[in-house]
Amino acid sequence: MAEIIPEISDVLKEATNSFQQKFGYKPEKAAYGPGRALPLVTLLVGKKTDSGICRVLTLASIGKDNYVEFPIPSNKNSLSPGEPMWANYVKGVVANYKGPMCSFDAVVVSTVPLGGGVSSSASLEVGTYTFLDELNDLILDTTVPKTQKALACQKAEHEFAGMPCGIMDQFISMLAKKDHALLIDCRSLESKLVPMKDSSVVVLVTNSNVKHQLTGTEYPTRRRQCEMSAKTMGKKSLRDATEKDLEENKDKLDEETFKRVRHVIGEISRTEEAANALESGDYKKFGQLMVASHNSLRDDYEVSCTELDELVEAALEVDGVYGSRMTGGGFGGCTVTLVKQSAVNNAIENIQKKYSAKATFFVCPPSGGAKPVPV
Ligand code: ADP
Repeated sequence: MAEIIPEISDVLKEATNSFQQKFGYKPEKAAYGPGRALPLVTLLVGKKTDSGICRVLTLASIGKDNYVEFPIPSNKNSLSPGEPMWANYVKGVVANYKGPMCSFDAVVVSTVPLGGGVSSSASLEVGTYTFLDELNDLILDTTVPKTQKALACQKAEHEFAGMPCGIMDQFISMLAKKDHALLIDCRSLESKLVPMKDSSVVVLVTNSNVKHQLTGTEYPTRRRQCEMSAKTMGKKSLRDATEKDLEENKDKLDEETFKRVRHVIGEISRTEEAANALESGDYKKFGQLMVASHNSLRDDYEVSCTELDELVEAALEVDGVYGSRMTGGGFGGCTVTLVKQSAVNNAIENIQKKYSAKATFFVCPPSGGAKPVPV
């Protein structure tokens, strides 16, 4: 059975009650950021204070170190990352916030699976940014465009969480629109909404509930390989390279780097093709591209794992499934599957039957981006 996704009003209630318990008074403002364009969110409730100290409690299951206090940054006293690790996402956003800084008390509640590849970290960053805007009554102020806010959140992740991530997670969390997918050009930061409002198809998110402990250098290593090979090919980034460029430069790249680059170049063109397929309602084509993407992530980029491959394989056995692939950083976390609404229960049943561990399922309509919520 699919999980019941809590309504925002229920998440707000839980956060408000915890806030009252922790701080002994009522919160006044709330805002959330979603993980991707999913109805799974990270929500903050709280209030501006004049103490100069930010106090934040998270209700996420991250052990007993779930409360943090830190001073608001000033010219004399800048913020720096530290323990607890989770708070670095919040601190990083505070440090990079593009509005007037104030201290605050806040409670964080999330329905996004943590470390599951559907961007709980970006949803915490974007949720925090939007919460700060709401504290300052700046939600309707368009002086700082949403793309700049997403970039500030990305910077927070680079500088405070030490993860040299791209812009996709923060961008979609900030700019998602209900009933739409978003094609993002990560070079120009232009984006295009693609309508996705057909109730006969749904997106099924399946959490493998495993996360393989690796060295933590997998992502930075791949990023470095891509940057180096772009240089080798005389390009600013792989976004400017074509399959022809890759073939012409084959001799200059070692076998592993060649595969990494082939994945990236292929993925960029698959993404554009997928947006076109979705626009013309060609789910079959879209599904094929999802599978091609998974295979490339598995064989060329080498970021999949047995569990993710099992989930994808089991999904593809079901009539009415158009396509399935891993998502996020890999080595565990979630898969996404595009499936006919009428076949979603069969898909869940088959996936669980064939999967060697316990999976969790979320049936997700394309949902809206970050926003404030009345308390
Ligand atoms: P994901 O794919 O979910 O973004 P990451 O490993 O990049 O996976 O980020 C997960 C980390 O983000 C968690 O380990 C935690 O430090 C932080 N995080 C995410 N959501 C919350 C939350 N609600 N409260 C506290 N920390 C959170």
